[in-house]
Amino acid sequence: MQCHLADKKPLTVPDLQALQMVRSIYESSHHSVWISRCGQCGQLYAVCFDEDVDWEQGNDKCWNFYVPIESCDIPPIEADTTQISALMQCRPFITWAPGDNIYWTTK
Ligand SMILES: [Zn+2]
Repeated sequence: MQCHLADKKPLTVPDLQALQMVRSIYESSHHSVWISRCGQCGQLYAVCFDEDVDWEQGNDKCWNFYVPIESCDIPPIEADTTQISALMQCRPFITWAPGDNIYWTTK
């Protein structure tokens, strides 16, 4: 994984917003998956958006996960978006947590 974001600290919202969407794979109001590319280095990311809906309080909590991928990873993800979870088991990824906490998660 070569992306310049790998060593950047701290990661900020503009860092992630600078990633360019390449294609949408799955879209719904509370769960979406798409592919983005780093505008600076071309690193591809599978991006997973999840919204935990708090029906009681109305405080929706949004989570985004940015998993670095290669172009060969895209077809399996298109066929089955749960492949992203499998990738997250075996490589570092960026977590964008509620409250704009952004950090690399490594196993
Ligand atoms: Zn980069």
